[in-house]
Order: sequence, then structure tokens, then C-alpha cells
Amino acid sequence: MISEIYKFTSFTTSNCYILRPFDDEICIFVDLPPDLTEPLIYVKENNLSIAGALVTHGHFDHALGMESFQSSIYMNLEDEFLARNPQEQISMFTNNAFNAEKFNGEITDIKDLPYEFIKTHYNPGHTAGSVSYEFPELGTIFTGDFVFKDSIGRTDLKTGNHNDMISSIKNVFSKFNPDYEVLPGHGPSEKVSNIRKENVLIKEHLHD
Ligand SMILES: [Zn+2]
Repeated sequence: MISEIYKFTSFTTSNCYILRPFDDEICIFVDLPPDLTEPLIYVKENNLSIAGALVTHGHFDHALGMESFQSSIYMNLEDEFLARNPQEQISMFTNNAFNAEKFNGEITDIKDLPYEFIKTHYNPGHTAGSVSYEFPELGTIFTGDFVFKDSIGRTDLKTGNHNDMISSIKNVFSKFNPDYEVLPGHGPSEKVSNIRKENVLIKEHLHD
């Protein structure tokens, strides 16, 4: 099943995933990086129809694509302000070389997601509204910038909080099914059990 997940890596190094959880032509996006041209070509070439996008958190490298996305957008509204106001974040990384508009389109609270087979995990730390999306039938968890293969998300940006990150590792990551695959917001995927064993930033907070 996992091989059917399409992955696109943006120039911002963030990943956009497209999955087909229903075994038909309906697809769901996970994260909307700034350059959606390639993912949208993939949708067109495969005659898919888009049910919506799940955004893991409000940083521009995961959410700026909202502007060019025509379907429903779901996220934890704790991060709505960040997602709607990307300029401050962008200025930090590009020294004001790039301008982004405020996003005024519709964003739906992840609590109102109409698909019960998707489990949302609230894991604040990288941002206050960071979430992971679990698809039990696919054995996958999309962690955004919470947990990567070899590291964890930084906590020094706006609404980031180191203590919350540690609690999220202890109370959320520790309960992830060890056989599931983590598909992070940056970099390659890895099995939960291997991250527990090999990711030193995670390992130190788990008592096995
Ligand atoms: Zn981020």
C-alpha cells in the first residue's frame, strides 16, 4: 500500500504527499508546500479528484501552497494564524527577498474532518498547533516537523516550546504503533521502531 503514496519534495525541502486511501480515484494531500505545480500535474495525469488537504502545521514551507489549492484545507486552528500570515516567517529565511500574500481562503478545523479512519494526534512543540495524521489502514503516520528519521523539529520559532516537544515525544510518539512507517515533513521515511532505537533525540526521552 505504501508504494502508492506519491511524494514530492519542494525547493523548501518540505515533503508533500498524495495518497489514495479509498482504492479509487479520490486522493488526499498531506501538506501544501509553496510549489504545488508538480503534485497537481500528478493529480491531472492520473485523473484523480482531490478530497482535501491535511496540513501538519502552519509554517510556510508546509502551508503556502494553500493559495493555489482548490479543495478543502484542514488543519489545527491553533496554527491558523501562522498559516494565514506567512510573511514574517519567510522574511526570517530569505531576508525579505520574497513576498507572500496573507491567505484569506477557507480553513476547516481538523476536528471537523469527515473521515473517521484518519486519526489526528496533537503534538505541540515545533509549533503550538502541530499535529500528526495516522492512517491505520495504510500503516503510516505523517508527522510534519514533529519527528524526522534522525532528528526532531526545532522549537525556537514562533509558538515553539521545548517542554511541549518533550511531552509530545513522551506522550504521543511513544504510543505510535512500532510497525508503522513515519512519513515526515522533511527527509526520508522510517519505521517507528527504528526511530525509537536509532534517533538519539527521541531515545533519550523514552524509557524502554
Ligand atoms: Zn515547520
